[in-house]
Amino acid sequence: MRSKGKSRRAAEPRNRLRTEPRGIRAALVASLAVATVGSGLAIGGIPGFSTGSPSAEPPDPYFPAAGSGGYDARRYELALRYRRAPNRLSGVVTLDANAIQNLSAFHLDLRGMKVTGVEVDGEPAGFDRDGQDLRIEPASALPAGQAFTTVVRYDGHPRPYRAPYGGTEGWVRTGDGSVALNEPQGSPSWFPVNDDLTDKARYDFELTVPRGIEAVANGDLRDRSRSGRRSTFSWHGSEPMASYLATVSTGQFELTHTRTAGVEAWLAVDRRFGQRGRRALAVMPRVLRLFAERFGAYPFSTTGGVVDRFDLGYALETQTKPTYPGPPGSGLVAHELAHEYFGNSVTPTQWRHIWLNEGFATWAQWLWAQSRGGQTLSSRFRSLCSAPAGSAFWRPPPGKPGGPEKLFAGSVYVRGGLTLEALRRWVGNEDFYVTLRRWLARNQHSNASSADFESLAEQVSGEQLDGLFDDWLRQPAKPEACERGEGRHGVAAAAPNPSAAPPAHAGGSPKLHPRFSIR
Ligand SMILES: [Zn+2]
Repeated sequence: MRSKGKSRRAAEPRNRLRTEPRGIRAALVASLAVATVGSGLAIGGIPGFSTGSPSAEPPDPYFPAAGSGGYDARRYELALRYRRAPNRLSGVVTLDANAIQNLSAFHLDLRGMKVTGVEVDGEPAGFDRDGQDLRIEPASALPAGQAFTTVVRYDGHPRPYRAPYGGTEGWVRTGDGSVALNEPQGSPSWFPVNDDLTDKARYDFELTVPRGIEAVANGDLRDRSRSGRRSTFSWHGSEPMASYLATVSTGQFELTHTRTAGVEAWLAVDRRFGQRGRRALAVMPRVLRLFAERFGAYPFSTTGGVVDRFDLGYALETQTKPTYPGPPGSGLVAHELAHEYFGNSVTPTQWRHIWLNEGFATWAQWLWAQSRGGQTLSSRFRSLCSAPAGSAFWRPPPGKPGGPEKLFAGSVYVRGGLTLEALRRWVGNEDFYVTLRRWLARNQHSNASSADFESLAEQVSGEQLDGLFDDWLRQPAKPEACERGEGRHGVAAAAPNPSAAPPAHAGGSPKLHPRFSIR
């Protein structure tokens, strides 16, 4: 679902608004398009119609090749068949969208895979590919405001995507199946999508796998059937979702349907983990109750978790069903469930605002630890603030990561979390929690920026907070407030907890979890 802050794909010469030849009739254009299905595009321009990429401003400067404008994706239906042994994925993706300008063509993102056919509103459509750009030219141009349905058929051997920060994402084969994790750019490696943070849509999945294998995706399981040697699992996501939060896991899972803290939950645990995997997720009700009490009602109709076995080195907050690379500790469960609020329901408008995800989830993880009798927020603030001013611990500033390779830098998490704690210490608990709740309510299932959060905090507290946010989020140096232990409203006065854990930066860089890093 599109939300505010939408911008458009960078113009490339082939995508510019074309006005030549002028006066060509739409009917002629349509017949040309049909005649060129799958074989390049002979179509000319239509006065008043353009491709969905007319702007020089990309949706996200960190990933200029991703995402496109001109339409609003409303719903994706992913009908996928997968067999692990040959790593063969066949897909039919149906996208319901609305044109938001007159479109002679539009774009999706898809990397690798072979596209075997594209239809728009039941008519064969022309298409061509360049890098991850799948350009689609419907037989009939689409006037602004028109709803249209696109079907893309494709198959091939999905390849993991090596992201700029050094991690691996996308569709990845595991010991007994596969896992698909996409933050920030993995989705186009396994399905055609408008890979733009702000174009949220609803998702349905129909996943067909060999019998004896389970297939899990976002949302709730609506149907499960068998036909011959195959099983099909139908998952439905009720709320809008950013494309990087889509997930599919296949393998030998123990699948449990339950209720946790009043929310319907689906738990998928790799059979090899058995009870150890189930026990790791047993902490979910306590975490969800704490967050509901502090942040407001859980924002989705279902929750859950996937405990799988893979070696990507991170867990991910895939919407309604965080995915863990092994039985997680409770801090990691708290971190990923906090993302259901911060990141999944309220998603940044651009990737450079990633601290709105990671700083908030890190702070929520500290809140969880405090609620369990662990280190208090105040004690943690003081101990983390003891990191020397010259230390890499403080860099990059979380509100200005500097580029896609720094999206998951330790400072985005820890200094981002400290930013929130500094705000709490300055405005006091009451205004702080009102700010968080209003942030979540106002932007539910939508997108927002760091500036939006900063102005909301000022509005709620009635204070000028430019200096605080600038020091913590954008200045490269260690924030001065850290040195002074600045705070008011008594929140800074809490006694140190003698059982407090050593500073997380003790090893030189933040170590957030003993076995794998956190996303
Ligand atoms: Zn995270």
